[in-house]
Amino acid sequence: MIRTKPDRVGSTCHLQGIEVREWNEWRECVFVYLANDLPTLWQKGGNSQNHTDRINMAASSSNLARFREIGKKILAIGRNYKSHAAELNNPIPQKPLVFIKPTTSYIIEGQRIRFPPDCSELHHEVELGVVIGKGGNNISEEDAMEHVGGYVLALDMTARDLQSFAKKNGHPWALAKSWDTSCPVSNFIEKDKIPNPGNLNLWLKVNGEMKQNGNTTDMIFPIPFLISFLSKYFTLEEGDVLLTGTPSGVGPVNEGDEIQAGLSDIMSIKFSVAENK
Ligand code: MG
Repeated sequence: MIRTKPDRVGSTCHLQGIEVREWNEWRECVFVYLANDLPTLWQKGGNSQNHTDRINMAASSSNLARFREIGKKILAIGRNYKSHAAELNNPIPQKPLVFIKPTTSYIIEGQRIRFPPDCSELHHEVELGVVIGKGGNNISEEDAMEHVGGYVLALDMTARDLQSFAKKNGHPWALAKSWDTSCPVSNFIEKDKIPNPGNLNLWLKVNGEMKQNGNTTDMIFPIPFLISFLSKYFTLEEGDVLLTGTPSGVGPVNEGDEIQAGLSDIMSIKFSVAENK
């Protein structure tokens, strides 16, 4: 229910935690401008239920733009593209290979990627991230996409030498995958900007040179399957992120390198690598 409205036309109020800066007309809801710049969600007309739905949509979307703060986990899938499994001489997995990165591994543009201690082979992996909107567990594949709130373009930075050591010795991958700065991410991408996440170009350049250029059609386990599979083990919560694996072309970056990555013509990001000390 809408329980609040501005005192007068043009004043500011709060709806479900969102600051509505300007409310020009209560009855017709001509235009509402939100603090997070979602002015087009409200158009002239509609009944109060529509308005409530739209406010719920906006509230949810506003929360998800803050996925780095509200999400509790990053679930990541290894070897989800055949070509990448092959380039590292790994077998094609029969079921998803899952690891976790903590949310302290996030960085955003303007922050630099750091080498973890004792790493001299730092690799880039560009990935499509799925941001969970509606939480749940034991989610069916049929219902899975209803739980997607949006997307993010991400890098699953990997200390390949530490990972090789861990694999050889049967150790977990935490030090190789989950240190601070190992998950550079873009801004949140609204769900409706990506009607078909199963056909997106994913590319990555290092110092202007193309290194990875794949497509999400090549995923071994598609997004609905991954959501359903993971939700049998983990309760998925609003703001959690699922990293869906990387196409082939992974390789090393060195201090001072500049990484650029993109998701079709929807989003691009740029990060630099800090000194290895
Ligand atoms: Mg990866």
